[in-house]
Amino acid sequence: MAFVWYRMSIMSLVVQKFGGSSVGTVEKIALVARRVAERRKTGVGLVVVVSAMQGDTDRLLQMAHEAAKIPDPRETDQLLATGEQVSAALLAITLKGMGIPACSMTGAQLRLRTDGIFSKARIVSMDTERVHALLDAGNVIVATGFQGVDAEGNLTTLGRGGSDTSAVAIAAALRADECEIYTDVLGVYTADPRVCPDARKLDTISFEEMMEMASQGSKVLQIRSVELAMNHKMPVRVRSTFSDDPGTLVCPEEDCENIERLVVCGVSHNKDEAKITLRSVEDRPGVAAKIFAALAAAQINVDVIIQNVAHDGRTDLSFTVGRSDIAQSEEIVQGLLNAVGAVGMDVDDTIAKVSVVGVGMRAHAGVAAKMFQALCAAGINIQLITTSEIKVTCVINREQVGDAVRALHGAFGLGG
Ligand code: ASP
Ligand code: MG
Repeated sequence: MAFVWYRMSIMSLVVQKFGGSSVGTVEKIALVARRVAERRKTGVGLVVVVSAMQGDTDRLLQMAHEAAKIPDPRETDQLLATGEQVSAALLAITLKGMGIPACSMTGAQLRLRTDGIFSKARIVSMDTERVHALLDAGNVIVATGFQGVDAEGNLTTLGRGGSDTSAVAIAAALRADECEIYTDVLGVYTADPRVCPDARKLDTISFEEMMEMASQGSKVLQIRSVELAMNHKMPVRVRSTFSDDPGTLVCPEEDCENIERLVVCGVSHNKDEAKITLRSVEDRPGVAAKIFAALAAAQINVDVIIQNVAHDGRTDLSFTVGRSDIAQSEEIVQGLLNAVGAVGMDVDDTIAKVSVVGVGMRAHAGVAAKMFQALCAAGINIQLITTSEIKVTCVINREQVGDAVRALHGAFGLGG
């Protein structure tokens, strides 16, 4: 990502992002405005990035799907981008009503350039000249999250939860001192507290661990925002709109204040994936390449991939994709069954993923074994297994995911 840099003034600059639940009603927007006003009194420059009001993006998306089975991608982005315009304008109206100079700006007005991949666009650059001019004139900038504009001027959106990525990108482009992500939870937890009642809030977590937690299903931060923060070394503080708790600082590993570092820092889970299995495909070069190239060409993210040892020149091949990509994935794979010599395919939409994450795993043996034992003791069958240097993931039956999270949280001593 390239940024044109025009940092004129020497005042410190903070980017604050408020999620959909923080701007869910006009009353909540007033609360956000009061928080912004308080911070502004300390003399810092402020860019406030907002998500759409809670539920709005889902509502818009549902209408698109009522209008057509596979809605046109360009028009869908055009539609979805309106959600953030509503909340940004309402916050700017509220601030101005309080006598605070403010200016709401869309992705296009922010000159936030993306590539042209609708619904999953990636940020390419941001020209910050106009934003700096408005900041220097004393304005609070209220920026729409989740959107940008491609080289042809089409509106694009950055993928669900994309406002986090907008906030970090804008913070990096403006060379902000801090990026604060305000949400409805106190910070990053050792597990989802709704699933695991004794989950603890972490004071700090490393970028890498946060990446794995996010990619494995923790919804606190969009994964791409963490990747971006890591690449730009932009510390991100996750905290609650409704509390003064300092939240969780996501930062480089060496800045994490973990004295008695636990081997595992958290357990994450994801119920938004489904499993596709190609039965008895030919065991020859090019089969996997053909399938995954076709999925990649359709911008479908494939997660866990397992291919078995071949018997009699044939093997089964399983992988998981996001549930929202399942119809399209099925269509693509169906079209390739003959070409790869498969005898059939199964789609299983009753799975979930559960993962244990921690940089401490690099230096400790036996994490996977402990995980499998804990799942076994809870009577949970493992369907697929995958690992990275700092994570072990199992695919299990979706109905057992709560039991799995609680069992692992206890087994790794993460409780309070
Ligand atoms: N409004 C978008 C969504 O619901 C972006 C965001 O909330 O971050 O996914
Ligand atoms: Mg979000």
